[in-house]
Amino acid sequence: MPERIYNFSPGPGTLPYSVLQEAAVDIVNFKDKGIGLIELSHRSKEFMAVAEETENLIRELMGIPANYKVLFLQGGASSQFFMVPMNLLKADQKATYLNTGVWAKKAIKEAKLFGQVEVAYSSEDITFKRVPRDDEYTVAPDSQYLYFVTNNTIYGTQFPTMPNKEAMLIADMSSDILSRPVDVSKFGLIFAGAQKNMGPAGVTVVIIREDLLDRVDDKVPTMLKYKTHAEKDSMFNTPPCFSIYCVGRVMNWLKQTGGVAAIEKLNREKAALLYEVIDSTEFYRGHAEKESRSLMNVAFNLPTPELEAQFIREATAVGLDGLKGHRSVGGCRASIYNAFPREGVEKLVTFMADFAKKNG
Ligand SMILES: *Cc1c(COP(=O)(O)O)cnc(C)c1O
Repeated sequence: MPERIYNFSPGPGTLPYSVLQEAAVDIVNFKDKGIGLIELSHRSKEFMAVAEETENLIRELMGIPANYKVLFLQGGASSQFFMVPMNLLKADQKATYLNTGVWAKKAIKEAKLFGQVEVAYSSEDITFKRVPRDDEYTVAPDSQYLYFVTNNTIYGTQFPTMPNKEAMLIADMSSDILSRPVDVSKFGLIFAGAQKNMGPAGVTVVIIREDLLDRVDDKVPTMLKYKTHAEKDSMFNTPPCFSIYCVGRVMNWLKQTGGVAAIEKLNREKAALLYEVIDSTEFYRGHAEKESRSLMNVAFNLPTPELEAQFIREATAVGLDGLKGHRSVGGCRASIYNAFPREGVEKLVTFMADFAKKNG
């Protein structure tokens, strides 16, 4: 293995090294067939098997019920901001949204193009440092769905449990899908851009309950209907073959690691190490309120922007990369997705303790 730095990037994020090695071989010569993976026809039996295996592993790992479709789409998670209301909301219908950050806000903006949007909760006035408890908002009985972002990548907040409301849930799980067990049957639709917890950029995984496929209006363009892709097993047009393949290899890695419950345990341990060092001194301040803390993105500040810049510079110099916070909140952020190794977290924790001692 070459010398690798620890990549704390929020996305695209670090991938298991074994997956990069597999991909490096298969790109050149897929299963010794004398043809590279990315040259294969998407309709070849070789690639169809890759796509099927990827879907089956996602189904197995997440425990997806049989009445749900798994789709591989393009256009990023951001295209789901409009595809969800375009397919599921009519002009005279209402949907409920929780405004817990930039990604939620962008989805709210798009939903308003299609129907009536009720923002039932917002933490915008406190720089999105928390997510709501169930008793802090209501969902109107005639609301078509409750939309929320399970993990707010930028602010390092995460719903500790899924909302328990009389409403069909729709979730953007881009930055914490497969990081902990989720009861899919509570959801109408789940989507995630792959590049944080599932693989490289280029594919968005959509999990949709089958009965919702028929809600779409005839006027919606063919490519933007979930139904189109569901009926053709995501092969209506050329899918993002390489990204689907990589997601499959990451799913295989996750299964070998013990699956979602096992990775959740590791994720909790990794996050606890970081929050411990943050809480142990006045020098570091976590951005999120404790009850809303994310296991995937740990956002924190130092006493001054100058110290933050110095921290990031010195960390980068010792192979701790990608720690700069999002421009909207500043500070630092350690993204520790499923594939991020525990040793990297330990190295950062030691670095943080030393840095605080020297500069505090
Ligand atoms: C990164 C991210 C997105 C945007 O994903 P794209 O694939 O770049 O469109 C949306 N939602 C969440 C929660 C994210 O973390």
